[in-house]
Amino acid sequence: MKTFQLMSWVSRAFCVGVLLAGISGCGGGSETATPPASSSANPDEPPGLAELSAEDHQLALAQAICPVSKAKLGSMGAPPKVDVDGREVFICCEGCREELLKDPAGYLANLQAE
Ligand SMILES: [Zn+2]
Repeated sequence: MKTFQLMSWVSRAFCVGVLLAGISGCGGGSETATPPASSSANPDEPPGLAELSAEDHQLALAQAICPVSKAKLGSMGAPPKVDVDGREVFICCEGCREELLKDPAGYLANLQAE
């Protein structure tokens, strides 16, 4: 009986010791918290669109992608606007302007397909 109680005490002390060791072992690592979430109001919205006027912002959101590269508008900064036969079309970057003007109908078809 007495031996059993001793064993019980020892094992409990051992558990506490492990617990304390565990706590002190990781006591300094409290900064490993989860990284802060993006402060953007709309996480789905590329940051480049924020640089547009309210009107262009809506147009770019509605168009969503570059007809040439099919990249998300705003993913490379504010998307430039191209006038294609009177229609305002956003592209992801200036590099796509020339391509779009080479074959406007072909590229605009990419937008309608989406
Ligand atoms: Zn581009």
